Amino acid sequence: MKLDVDALRYLSKDDFRVLTAVEMGMRNHEIVPAELVDRIAGLKHGGTYKVLKNLLKNKLVHHDSSKYDGFRLTYLGYDFLAIKTLVNRGVFSAVGRQIGVGKESDIFEVATEDGTILAMKLHRLGRVSFRAVKAKRDYLLHRNSYNWLYLSRLAALKEYAFMKALGEHGFPVPTAVDCNRHCVIMSLVKGYPLVQVKQLQNPDEVFETVLGLIVRLAEHGLIHCDFNEFNIMIDDNEEVTMIDFPQMVSVSHRNAEMYFDRDVECIFKFFRKRFNLSGQDDEDEDDNDDGSESELESNSRPTFSSITKSSGFLDKELAASGFTRRDQDDIEKYIDGGGEEIDSSDSNDEVPADQEEQDPDENHIPLAVNMNALHLADQHNFLMHSNDKDALEELQ
Ligand code: ADP
Ligand code: MG
Repeated sequence: MKLDVDALRYLSKDDFRVLTAVEMGMRNHEIVPAELVDRIAGLKHGGTYKVLKNLLKNKLVHHDSSKYDGFRLTYLGYDFLAIKTLVNRGVFSAVGRQIGVGKESDIFEVATEDGTILAMKLHRLGRVSFRAVKAKRDYLLHRNSYNWLYLSRLAALKEYAFMKALGEHGFPVPTAVDCNRHCVIMSLVKGYPLVQVKQLQNPDEVFETVLGLIVRLAEHGLIHCDFNEFNIMIDDNEEVTMIDFPQMVSVSHRNAEMYFDRDVECIFKFFRKRFNLSGQDDEDEDDNDDGSESELESNSRPTFSSITKSSGFLDKELAASGFTRRDQDDIEKYIDGGGEEIDSSDSNDEVPADQEEQDPDENHIPLAVNMNALHLADQHNFLMHSNDKDALEELQ
């Protein structure tokens, strides 16, 4: 999606006031009637209606008269609110080029006042890769209670909370800087996704490190669930950073073992194919591995049952960042429901994975598709961050 940040510059205080009013109205309205927007924004002399026209022109809101006449935020509108808030907080001051297109996110460089470059991840749940769209649409027909903006906000909060907690436990992850709405600000990883790396000095060492991460995560009670060559970054010194945490689950999840095995299998498969490593992967032989061997040949596949797992990480540490067990339950409904299944059938075999990555446009779904998928249940506590009273003042 194009993020025309210039437009941000031309938006007035009133524009943001009305945009925020739409967001507030979306707490309990799928489509927010213009009168309600007007009442919340409180602009004089019918100013709200003029502003709404301008927001519509800039595609920050969408006019919807399918059920009754009203407006809702687009992803772009949501982007602008998050960016504006973070800029006001002094987290960064400029948005730069796009550096990544994930399956369900856009990543941009942002610059702080002192010139430090950070990474901004805008979550876009509901966007799926092109070939999966039909399946996803069919899937959505049978599911009508999810709101993608709400889930994107949850995904961002979850990612931020995990990044912070994992970093504090010494895992190689980007530094979590801040989070607002569906947006996470983190340190910029120097390096490339493993999928782009054709050669390594020490493939077996990298392999072991990466496999060791899966094991160490499980020891902390966690499974990544999307641990693959797209979500492992590697720098010139072959140091590894793992990214992308919205889909992580606890080892007590009912499908934990399957997710764990799948993460392990992804790594074996990739290293076998790309670096010709013939890791011993028959599960039935050695069933234990301390991770101490340096020869790949002597590495056996870690098994879920052989790991001593601690629990409670999810509840205690993550709640500290505002991510609660209830949030986790909400987001798991989505993950269990479809995202994963469709993704995995989508990413393997028929199309080379790196080709998919290099063709970002393929991954883009027009905004309309996302928003058509926006079905709402009567979700209260829906879009706003907790301090919604402050939200309007924030924009003064
Ligand atoms: P998604 O959840 O959509 O898969 P990711 O978090 O995996 O999103 O990010 C998508 C891509 O953006 C990554 O493959 C990587 O190339 C790039 N990226 C993500 N985070 C960073 C970061 N902190 N620093 C540099 N590049 C990043
Ligand atoms: Mg990813």
